[in-house]
Amino acid sequence: MPGFIERPEPVQVPGLTHLHTGKVRDLYRDEAGQLVMVASDRVSAFDWVLRSEIPDKGRILTRLSLWWFDQLADLAPNHVVGTEPPKGAPDDWAGRTLICRPLDMVPVEAVARGYLTGSGLVEYQEHRTVCGLALPEGLVDGSELPAPIFTPATKAEIGDHDENVAYEEVARRVGAETATQLRQTTLALYHRARDIARDRGIILADTKFELGRPIGAGADQPLVLADEVLTPDSSRFWRKSEWQPGQPQRPYDKQLIRDWLTSPAARWDNRGDIPPPPLPPHVIEQSHSRYTEVYRLLTGNAWD
Ligand code: ATP
Ligand code: MG
Repeated sequence: MPGFIERPEPVQVPGLTHLHTGKVRDLYRDEAGQLVMVASDRVSAFDWVLRSEIPDKGRILTRLSLWWFDQLADLAPNHVVGTEPPKGAPDDWAGRTLICRPLDMVPVEAVARGYLTGSGLVEYQEHRTVCGLALPEGLVDGSELPAPIFTPATKAEIGDHDENVAYEEVARRVGAETATQLRQTTLALYHRARDIARDRGIILADTKFELGRPIGAGADQPLVLADEVLTPDSSRFWRKSEWQPGQPQRPYDKQLIRDWLTSPAARWDNRGDIPPPPLPPHVIEQSHSRYTEVYRLLTGNAWD
């Protein structure tokens, strides 16, 4: 069963209650009731959380997410209230911590796609639709869609894949008003981010947002952007210069890891139940450079 090879122990910090260990991030609640999200350097591939970590990854993705929250601030409020690790936290939490206001999450992964690939491509090849939305003939893996589409999914447990659902199903689950807001907000955020990334040589093929509302707020209240945003862990980024529809595009961040894990050198079967081997140092180093590169290209700032 893919997942953790070794599940990390939560860190004990006075005043913090451990809530959840995700594949990459750990979630705590502080005494004021705020969420403390800590992004580790863990990395997953083929649904496994690898034994090897990519140094700085958690910090890079946290800073990238914060940068994007700023770029999107006029389109949607967000959940970030601070970045200061709580007193008594390990030194290592600096730069990888987000203090967030707790929200009532909309139980839907708000995915927007501007390009066809992944689970969208699978459905398209069978039915000429994605999440029930009809698409034109002749699209191939990596094609740009005539216009970006909202393709909601329901969250799956670790190791399972999220399931695409039709908009009508979302409306049934969360109500028409929230579903409309979710679609509008998701597409507005995607358009903005796609244009910013494109100007910087990066294709934002698709991305997943998570939204919620302040606890107790009604459906007439605006949705608040939560979780992480527009990181390589929540998005597909492709190099514009390498984009070639008609074949699988090379994922910007994990390409080197996936390439190595499927090479003879790894002596590993990615479809089996045996956990993947540790990554060799050169793959770790090159992956680190990928994360710093995507950070630099998008934000225009060098990483440290
Ligand atoms: P994966 O590692 O596959 O993403 P996961 O989703 O279980 O697994 P995380 O993404 O680390 O792990 O978990 C973060 C959790 O916190 C998610 O369930 C997300 O919906 C939730 N979350 C994010 N922001 C907020 C918020 N402001 N209020 C409440 N819940 C939030
Ligand atoms: Mg998550």
